[in-house]
Amino acid sequence: MKLSKVLWQTFKENPSDAEIPSHQLTMRAGLIHKAGSGLYNYMPFFLRSLRKVEKIVREELDNIGCQEIQMTVITPGELWQESGRWEKMGDLMLRFKDKNKKDLCISPTNEEAVVDIFRSSVKSYKDLPLALYQINTKFRDEIRPRFGLLRGREFLMKDAYSFHKDKKSLDDFYDNIYKAYQNIISRIGLKYIVVEADGGAMASSDAKTHEFQVLAKNGEDTIIHCEKSGYAANIEKAKSKRSQKVERQTSELKEEVETPGKSTIDSVCAFLNIAESTSLKCLLYKYISNNKDQFLMVVTLGDDTVNEIKLGTIIKGDHLRMANDQEIETLGLIKGYIGPQGLSEEIKILFDSEISIKNAYVVGANKRDFHILNLVPERDCKKYFQADIRLALSSDVSIEGFPIEITKGIEVGHIFQLGDKYTKSLKVNVLGEDGKNFIPTMGCYGIGVTRMIAAAIEQSHDEKGIIWPVSIAPFQIYLVSIIKDEKYLKDAEDLYDKLISGGLEVLFDDRPKLGPGHKFKDAELLGIPLRVTFGERDFIENGTIEISVRRTGEQRKVKLDSVLSECQALYSSLK
Ligand code: ATP
Ligand code: MG
Repeated sequence: MKLSKVLWQTFKENPSDAEIPSHQLTMRAGLIHKAGSGLYNYMPFFLRSLRKVEKIVREELDNIGCQEIQMTVITPGELWQESGRWEKMGDLMLRFKDKNKKDLCISPTNEEAVVDIFRSSVKSYKDLPLALYQINTKFRDEIRPRFGLLRGREFLMKDAYSFHKDKKSLDDFYDNIYKAYQNIISRIGLKYIVVEADGGAMASSDAKTHEFQVLAKNGEDTIIHCEKSGYAANIEKAKSKRSQKVERQTSELKEEVETPGKSTIDSVCAFLNIAESTSLKCLLYKYISNNKDQFLMVVTLGDDTVNEIKLGTIIKGDHLRMANDQEIETLGLIKGYIGPQGLSEEIKILFDSEISIKNAYVVGANKRDFHILNLVPERDCKKYFQADIRLALSSDVSIEGFPIEITKGIEVGHIFQLGDKYTKSLKVNVLGEDGKNFIPTMGCYGIGVTRMIAAAIEQSHDEKGIIWPVSIAPFQIYLVSIIKDEKYLKDAEDLYDKLISGGLEVLFDDRPKLGPGHKFKDAELLGIPLRVTFGERDFIENGTIEISVRRTGEQRKVKLDSVLSECQALYSSLK
């Protein structure tokens, strides 16, 4: 492709809304063009990379027997009403009506649509297992679209869905798609980690779910990883233990102590001169279950934090949030002085697993300016239950007691055993081997295709620009001609043709009016793996052409005749 004929523009300055390198570089290198908040047009070079990612994805999915389909981007509201998600999806889903006043939405995901295809076309166990996938546009009206393609509103996703007669078949397929995802990311050439993910409140306890996280310091996800045990999980669900906490036992009865104005954990603990881990942090939450408001007092060690995602999976209800001041007051509690003792029946109590219920703690006295000393949960609290609801910390150890580290990742893929959630709500029935109907079980599997490219750039760039992984670079070679003398132009053209005939993908910077500095800067910004420089002086004086490697900066000068073979060899060595 000749640059003189391509629609391409680069920019010196970072756009003001671009906070991280992948966003800055995709914009500055003219790969994408902003259409609106979270909306991007894909420009020619970006599309070339996108097609390469898609090809890798298709090959790996076809290889495990998935069939490609393409569903509509707009889906009827009826289907979502049937599954019960029309309301549940909240603001994330863009809804509208057609001229006949029928509800429609732009697909944020396609479980309903694929189940609708399945239920009208599959009648017998003989057609199972079945796995369908598509690479298609999604729209999610994200609360905070940011970081360019990493969290767009419109984006390209590969979504796959599988249907099975039993858990065993689902497990087998799950293993295959897990490996296919590993192959995809390895072939693209990214460093990643597979982590246990949060299955959400609806998932059954044996439902597997994993996220594929590309390691990058600007990733939005936090990952706990224990090298020694191999445990890796998204912090949303990570299980770990505190490496240290002060514990205190006592046989003394609980007693009230005056703590004037000390309504925070640190101020109370400083005032009483005790370790924060011998105090309890009590927070009041509200959620809805069976159409009724429920109140839950959530208690952690004073210096721990509640993980609301873990909490959300434990409660049997939804619309979980912290109770507001008025609700706290109505229940007879006093903000800053809340304790789990002497509560009314309607408040359930949940202690975090790190709390030793036989130990003694300081808690709020449910009375302004007072705290309680020596509260022993087992002895002093009514009806409570215990579960892991704390946020893991980098100072924690794994459950086995090994060190852990916390890193940041970009979720490029997510695989998930759904069970019969959608096949049940959408009333799917398949004839079983025994002549009876059964409800098939399902899995769903996503890859953020456009996010994958942004993740690649986030992981692979320097201060000058992008350094494409060779597998998805828009081109293999950036051929720069810095020739002024017309009589050598033909030689440069010939070299371009020769490289192309040799099977290489070449972008030829033949822009006549630009100086070498500008061309080199653009080449570095765009980050094509190899640059071949046809410079007048080198060529006339020594008959040589310069080849340089974007990633390492390595340079070689070779005779015109051997440019092709050198490029082929160098390129293969980079793969
Ligand atoms: P996230 O937690 O990042 O919001 P998600 O868990 O909601 O993502 P899934 O529903 O699992 O996402 O979607 C499958 C894949 O689609 C994700 O793993 C991610 O790679 C990609 N994806 C999701 N939301 C976006 C987005 N707003 N922009 C780009 N890619 C996205
Ligand atoms: Mg996800």
